[in-house]
Amino acid sequence: MQRRRILVTGGAGFLGSHLCERLVARGDDVLCVDNFYTGTKDNIAHLLGTPRFELIRHDVTFPLYVEVDEIYNLACPASPIHYQYDPVQTTKTSVHGAINMLGLAKRTGARILQASTSEVYGDPTVHPQTEDYRGNVNPIGPRACYDEGKRCAETLFFDYYRQHQVRIRVARIFNTYGPRMHPNDGRVVSNFIVQALSGKPITIYGDGRQTRSFCYVDDLVDGLIRLMDADDAVTGPLNLGNPGEFTIRELAEKVLAMVGSTSGMVQLPLPEDDPLQRRPDIGKAEKLLGWGPTVPLDQGLARTIDYFRTLKSQPAIGAGG
Ligand code: NAD
Ligand code: UDP
Repeated sequence: MQRRRILVTGGAGFLGSHLCERLVARGDDVLCVDNFYTGTKDNIAHLLGTPRFELIRHDVTFPLYVEVDEIYNLACPASPIHYQYDPVQTTKTSVHGAINMLGLAKRTGARILQASTSEVYGDPTVHPQTEDYRGNVNPIGPRACYDEGKRCAETLFFDYYRQHQVRIRVARIFNTYGPRMHPNDGRVVSNFIVQALSGKPITIYGDGRQTRSFCYVDDLVDGLIRLMDADDAVTGPLNLGNPGEFTIRELAEKVLAMVGSTSGMVQLPLPEDDPLQRRPDIGKAEKLLGWGPTVPLDQGLARTIDYFRTLKSQPAIGAGG
């Protein structure tokens, strides 16, 4: 098979770095584009010496002229703390970024995959969430810059598909965790592990009865690659995530037990518009991609805890939360 030239935007981030690694290992030429807003060169440092890997510092809100066969569009801060820090830039990244990458796909004839999100369902009134559910998003709340930006990006993808026959794929990614999450990124899994390892109390927002479904990064990256490699008729949107559903308190108890920490928990206010429940229906991805998660939460958490233990033994890493 011919060696593919693959662009990964947001390639120096958590998911992007794992994706770049997998594509390089498969033998593809990978062009990683990132403005290092939340990602770091450390995440991809081990790939920099590889002739098949190239890195460009670039902001996707500006046009990019390269020749590629496939585009994975992952550029966008994903943690609520980060995407709410500069909400206007967050929407620009999703919307202008999508327009620029879709324009590139249109010119080059490349296939293009959008990293969309379970946040398009907002605080869902249908449970578990199926792809045909249209969501319950507050368009003027603090999460809207991310949720509505991602919804608009989906709209653009389907309009470029209908209007210009661009070969699109849309993945709706549910909470994913694993090594290379930033220790201060504020998301629940990294916060809890870093807090437990530092002997600090675990910060539970609200009563901790809200639920999430946690997918290990390797499973998620496998799903993204299968979706890109599927027939052009499989546009999605497809939910990708692990249907195991846990309350945030259950997650905290698990992390404390696995780390062997007695630091306990502290309750803080629930952030505005924080969804109360979330679990993917992955029937479509199972049927169309033959995909499903294989790493149970305990196993994925153990690997992630090992990663943060190693990080902690290095200097200059603070505690999250
Ligand atoms: P991340 O913050 O680690 O990675 C995002 C990357 O995008 C970073 O490297 C960042 O520097 C880069 N970036 C941000 N704005 C940019 C811009 N304007 N131009 C170029 N690069 C830019 O987050 P992640 O968890 O790896 O998420 C990757 C993608 O997957 C995001 O689009 C996110 O919305 C989506 N997603 C992730 C999850 C999850 O649980 N991890 C869930 C749903 C959707
Ligand atoms: N959360 C928490 N403590 C933390 C960080 C997050 O209780 O230190 C909760 C948060 O309120 C939400 C859930 O964990 O209900 C998942 O939060 P995260 O920011 O990881 O992702 P979200 O799914 O909300 O985008």
